[in-house]
Amino acid sequence: MTQNQSTTLRTHLCGVLRAGDAGTTVRLCGWVGRRREHGEHLAFVDLRDHSGIIQCVIDNSVDVRSEWVIAVTGTVRPRPDGTVNPGLDTGEIEIGDCTVEVLNEAEPPPFPVDDRTDADEPVRLRYRYVDLRRPRMQRNLRLRARVNAAIRAAMDRQGFCEVETPLLWAPTPEGSREFSVPARLHHGSFYALPQSPQLAKQLLMVGGVDRYYQIARCLRDEDLRADRQFEFTQLDMEASFATQDDVMGFVTEAVLNAAEAATGERPPDIARMTWADALDRYGTDKPDLRFAMELVDLTAAFADTGVKAFAAPVVKAIGVPGGASFTRSRLDQLTEQAKRAGASGLAWFRVTAGPALEGPLDRFLSESERGRVLEKTGAGEGDLILAVADVYRTACTVLGMLRNALGSPPVGQGPHRYVWVTDFPMFDGVDASGNPQAAHHPFTMPYAEDLPLLDSDPAAVRSQAYDLVLNGWELGSGSVRIHRSDIQSKVFATLGITDADAEARFGFLLGAFRYGAPPHAGFAFGIDRLAAILAGEENIREVIAYPKTQSGADPLTGAPSPLPAATLAELGIRVVVPPGP
Ligand code: ASP
Repeated sequence: MTQNQSTTLRTHLCGVLRAGDAGTTVRLCGWVGRRREHGEHLAFVDLRDHSGIIQCVIDNSVDVRSEWVIAVTGTVRPRPDGTVNPGLDTGEIEIGDCTVEVLNEAEPPPFPVDDRTDADEPVRLRYRYVDLRRPRMQRNLRLRARVNAAIRAAMDRQGFCEVETPLLWAPTPEGSREFSVPARLHHGSFYALPQSPQLAKQLLMVGGVDRYYQIARCLRDEDLRADRQFEFTQLDMEASFATQDDVMGFVTEAVLNAAEAATGERPPDIARMTWADALDRYGTDKPDLRFAMELVDLTAAFADTGVKAFAAPVVKAIGVPGGASFTRSRLDQLTEQAKRAGASGLAWFRVTAGPALEGPLDRFLSESERGRVLEKTGAGEGDLILAVADVYRTACTVLGMLRNALGSPPVGQGPHRYVWVTDFPMFDGVDASGNPQAAHHPFTMPYAEDLPLLDSDPAAVRSQAYDLVLNGWELGSGSVRIHRSDIQSKVFATLGITDADAEARFGFLLGAFRYGAPPHAGFAFGIDRLAAILAGEENIREVIAYPKTQSGADPLTGAPSPLPAATLAELGIRVVVPPGP
């Protein structure tokens, strides 16, 4: 913050003055923080603006109170010996000889404006304009602004053209529930708020834009949680005549540039891992690389086992450092967690001196089985070994869930570990009619060599899709798109989307593809998530000026709220479920 932020009403910001400014006459504007009476005639007032706090020594007859808006004219001077506050950037100085002008009085704030506030979130959101004055929120919003600026600069440098796309549009196939907006001029018809600019950006490629980006608002009517809001912001991009490697390069540049702008340090280049490897080693497609505890395969160790619990297609395990001290009830809870996640059970062994294994199953293990369990997991005395015997996918995902539960630091803490996850399966699970579901979206290009498998073994088809993961959070996804209508029809057929369906839902896109679609690929990553982690926050609401609560409400405005009858009539809408009590 080196720019001169003086205006007609102020000469300086509060937080930028230092000992070297002593003797300067300044006029500062801001909010009254703490006030402390000092002797018979004087009072100390902390004057606050977004840049920080400075102490002003005022005549105690002046009536200024918490959160009043004032202008102070005075002289910068060193604080008297012994009163320097090393905890404050301006702690060596104060403003003396002050004249105070009250610009606006204020009601007492609903909670103290400092970072130690323990106000509940609904109260913070109800009075967000007060909450935003807190240093933490100012820091977060400004960090986010730097992230945005750095992303724009990086995209610009790489030849991308910023294009805005419509918010009132047609449904986008990203797999989430959509928000609908009634069309006043077309009663009974609705716009969809886009889940992403996916279709618009692909059309831009047909339109010859070549390299598009947008800091785009996306809307998805999904249940809210720490990393999810109805509306969120993505860096959305698409490039023509580009491969997966090209796109990963463009995005890496934007993300690393943003990280550097936020933290002052450019992270190292981003490592890559295939989806299959991520599942195998971390039990998830969102591996948190801040800690080890990798999954190991014990299937061979138990190949000839006589222990029924281990007679399964696959046995996998993790070592939990220091976990031998877990109580029996904690271990029972973990077993319950594993079962809820789909495992038939959870085997555990404490590693005791020797090292030896201790647990409900240890006495059934052969000597060689014990040896191989210890060797494979690398566990030592004081550790815990958790093993799941099941089909491969279940063994991996259950242990991945336990690994995160036991090892993950809070998402915003510790190092920032980025990783690209590549080669996702094309399909993931089946829908209600038994058709495979697109793992990314239906416009994702399979690997050319896997195309024949679309008929014979869809589950084995890999797609040219890639995710960017940071500290166990999915930052974003992208893919090479299908630009040829024969492949698109084939994929639609596998997904159970008939030609008529496809025509009705995305006819405009398929139509456009008949007019010269270049090969293209793209990506989008969540700026809320990136900014939250870079700001050290656990919840994206801390980097959003006006977020909604978990139940989708906005305590500040009262939204959502019923509409007056006249508005409903104008929109041609009749509400059949009356509002609740
Ligand atoms: N539209 C996708 C998403 O929002 C990203 C992409 O494929 O570009 O996740």
